[in-house]
Amino acid sequence: MQTGKINVQTENIFPVIKKFLYSDHEIFLREIVSNAVDATQKLKTLSTRGAFEGELGDLTIKVKVNKDEKTIRVIDRGLGMTAEEVDKYINQIAFSGAEDFLSKYKGNDAANIIGHFGLGFYSSFMVADEVEILTKSYLPGSEAVRWHCDGSPEFTIEPIDKEDRGTEIVLHIADDVQEFLEEPKIVELLNKYCRFLPIPIECGTKTEWVKPEKVEESDANGENKEEPKEVSVQVPRIINDTEPIWQKAPSSLSDDDYKEFYHKLYPMNMEEPMFQIHLNVDYPFNLTGVLYFPKVKNQLDLRKNRVQLYCNQVYITDELEGVIPEFMTLLHGVIDSPDIPLNVSRSYLQSDANVKKISTYISKKVAEKLESMFKENREDFEKKWDELKVFMEYGSLTDEKFYDKIKDFYLLKNTEGKYYTFEEYRNMASALQTNKDDQVVFLYASNTDEQHLYVQAAKEHGYDILLMDGFLDTHFINMLEQKMEKTRFTRVDADIVDKLIEKSDEEMVSKLSDDQKKTLKEYFDKNVDAQKFTVMVDAMSETDLPVMITQNEFMRRFKDMEKVSGQQSFYGGFEHYNLVVNGNHPLAAKLMEEPEEDKRNQLIQQMVDLALLSQNILTGEKLSEFVKRSFDMMKADSGQ
Ligand code: ADP
Ligand code: MG
Repeated sequence: MQTGKINVQTENIFPVIKKFLYSDHEIFLREIVSNAVDATQKLKTLSTRGAFEGELGDLTIKVKVNKDEKTIRVIDRGLGMTAEEVDKYINQIAFSGAEDFLSKYKGNDAANIIGHFGLGFYSSFMVADEVEILTKSYLPGSEAVRWHCDGSPEFTIEPIDKEDRGTEIVLHIADDVQEFLEEPKIVELLNKYCRFLPIPIECGTKTEWVKPEKVEESDANGENKEEPKEVSVQVPRIINDTEPIWQKAPSSLSDDDYKEFYHKLYPMNMEEPMFQIHLNVDYPFNLTGVLYFPKVKNQLDLRKNRVQLYCNQVYITDELEGVIPEFMTLLHGVIDSPDIPLNVSRSYLQSDANVKKISTYISKKVAEKLESMFKENREDFEKKWDELKVFMEYGSLTDEKFYDKIKDFYLLKNTEGKYYTFEEYRNMASALQTNKDDQVVFLYASNTDEQHLYVQAAKEHGYDILLMDGFLDTHFINMLEQKMEKTRFTRVDADIVDKLIEKSDEEMVSKLSDDQKKTLKEYFDKNVDAQKFTVMVDAMSETDLPVMITQNEFMRRFKDMEKVSGQQSFYGGFEHYNLVVNGNHPLAAKLMEEPEEDKRNQLIQQMVDLALLSQNILTGEKLSEFVKRSFDMMKADSGQ
């Protein structure tokens, strides 16, 4: 037997490993199993190259949990190790990886490192107080060896009898983490980290129901007995899908294959994805993956299922903020890259140049795919648009380069349900909707029900109205105004229809004199809360409404943006509207002629309330008063 010290200079690092990786100690299983996979893959490669001539046989990796023995065993039939290799790869190289961790930990805050540092083999000491390696190399005539370490820097290595080629790692689970001796727990972890590893992984058994072979036995009457009943049998439980879809050639896959994989990835999600993008690149870095565009039902659903990052089919994380472009955290699917450094903290990952390149590449690829969808089948693209829109907007708002790539096929939808590119829309609207500053005014509604009156009025003027009802639209509109020259956006209720688009045309002739206007304004001022309303008397067409409520575009946008970003409200608490009185309306004349103040006030209140109702802002006590007053007026009219 040989004994030795792993590294005499270093203090005992195992307690440190255990302490500082405590919050994420489950990754030990990922490390040990992926080592077994590596060893098996290497043997397969040697075999195809003719360097290994023996039988590969069944290469299934077995994970065995033994509660009585308090062990977890991970058994592979890979290439194994000789005594020299154990010394080199375990005592020296793997250990230096662990040491590296320690030195990094010392110069960093622990929180950044916890769980994001692949410690490889030595991560087993997070859960085990004793570890054994039983291994036999594939090389002919090799002697099997047992390496043993009890968590102190001392190890032993000795020859053993072992029939089969390959490695068995025996973890003696420490008393304070006995939950890892529950097979369901281990199965859960394997499902998380090892679900798409390329070599079959077996853990325990599962129940399967099978129909026994029909026994051709006849009863006395010569008739067959009933169908045999299904019986349960125990079969080995294979954890993984060894050929996940992202590793296959896109040309060999159908849409259904992608959908099936989607449901495998997110079993709890019943929705079908809209479409997917298959990423496949080997220069200047390796990257494969499938990104799905989900159907967005509501904001909350968005982040429930996340993009998963794999490294050679080993699950790493689904916390990818800062690693992939931000809007892509709203997508679903997987990306797999051996080139993303995984053994480091996420903050390090975010600043890594390679990671940035990958992120830019993915963003470009997604934009290209969208563009080709638009060009190849615009009709179909339009069908998907309503659900695509939020990704386009989020992508643009968080990444200007993305906006530059999609701006030629971003679609505006009008209230008639027609879609236009920016350019098409400008061309169409410019004739009627250019204001005196030579800006094309894009009129929009955010809710066609609530703003129905205003939409109607604008349409009657021959204007076209866009539908901007998405939850990012207010932000996006702000951005567009900065990006697009000579363009502004105005919501239909921002002003009376004649003033929505300010032209140099002469004003409507007013039937009222300036003095009369002043008087009329005073009449209204007496009847409304000055904190909430600014009264204006304007000359409109006789057929326009007698009173309208409008909201200043910019004030309203601020409020909307506060709502979206959930900020503490400043403008939100400050409700203010314009109350525009149509001085040319016959009712204005009626008010001016009304000698009885009570009657005049009643009429004004009625007019104001109707205007508020049309904006959906007459509620509570005011609404009750309005209803009562309306009935009273009807009673009076009918002379009762
Ligand atoms: P890494 O996997 O990144 O090389 P590890 O610390 O996980 O680092 O493993 C160290 C080395 O130990 C591996 O590179 C490999 O040479 C060897 N090793 C670990 N597990 C096995 C195994 N199951 N079969 C053969 N060799 C192994
Ligand atoms: Mg490893």
